[in-house]
Amino acid sequence: MPLSMCGFGGIKWYHPLRLKHLLDLKSCYPEAKLVVGNSEVGIETKFKNTQYQVLISVTHVPELNVLSVKENGLEIGASVRLAQLQQILRNVIAERDTDETSSCRAILEQLKWFAGKQIKNVASIAGNICTASPISDLNPLWMASGAKFQIIDCKGNIRTDPAKDFFLGYRKVNLAHNEILLSIFLPWTRPYEFVKEFKQAHRREDDIALVNAGMRAFLKEDNGNWIVSDVSVVYGGVAPVSLIASKTERFLMGKKWNKKLIQDTLQILKEDVPLAEDAPGGMVEFRKSLTLSFFFKFFSWVTHKMN
Ligand code: FAD
Repeated sequence: MPLSMCGFGGIKWYHPLRLKHLLDLKSCYPEAKLVVGNSEVGIETKFKNTQYQVLISVTHVPELNVLSVKENGLEIGASVRLAQLQQILRNVIAERDTDETSSCRAILEQLKWFAGKQIKNVASIAGNICTASPISDLNPLWMASGAKFQIIDCKGNIRTDPAKDFFLGYRKVNLAHNEILLSIFLPWTRPYEFVKEFKQAHRREDDIALVNAGMRAFLKEDNGNWIVSDVSVVYGGVAPVSLIASKTERFLMGKKWNKKLIQDTLQILKEDVPLAEDAPGGMVEFRKSLTLSFFFKFFSWVTHKMN
């Protein structure tokens, strides 16, 4: 049986050590709140007066703490802390072919500017994903990198959801009451596939983003030209949810990667990432210009890598 405690007002707190126990608890209490680092839930309960009658601490469930290097990518358990993720990313970047670790380097670089050490030591990957904050620094990168989320229900059935389909709206994700996030699968990148992170905040360190982004381009050679074979352009901080610039992605597909492309793409991007004059967060002109300058930087960075 999992460790349990009863607090003020009948609040129940459980600490399962096995996945089976966690799933049983979730089946008994579909509305229960899972907690890892408590850096989101703690703010909700302390400052927003939210009350949860049942809390399940999932820090010590082995299946949620998996960190496994597979042939085609990295499997990361949902409860893995951000500091642990940094460490495994450093290891795989040192050990594996550079072509394979473009996503890993982008995520590692983004984590440098993510909160402070104290938060990264306790905060989990699932906590960041499932909060689905529109300014999450990592969600645009999971989406751009083609990551897949493994989801398990109370009966033990597992399904897979691409990260790009998982975020449904403002702090709303594709999880039913009887489901939890089990793990994240991050595929290795291929030769000529480049992933890059972006974040602009008021302060460089330990600050939330005004706008952030994750971008990926996969280029293939054809008759001496580099052609866009696959692409992802995802922004945070410009909509209620991490936003895929789908028009821009469609426009880029199959195009030659050259100077003309950047001019045309910036025109499309302007329409594709709409920020109303009264958009929450303000500084609309500045944030709009960030979306364009991030893409311009990405274009220059990829071009430089190709030379
Ligand atoms: P918790 O508070 O424990 O849980 C958050 C949510 O995730 C809850 O709804 C919980 O039920 C759910 N959850 C947890 N595990 C699962 C699971 N397996 N399945 C389903 N649901 C699950 N965010 C950024 O993006 N960038 C920053 O720079 C940043 N800086 C921060 C600085 C501070 C000081 C603080 C307090 C927060 C910051 N955050 C930032 C936000 C936050 O820290 C992160 O989102 C963090 O990763 C949340 O993880 P956690 O384990 O603490 O979440």
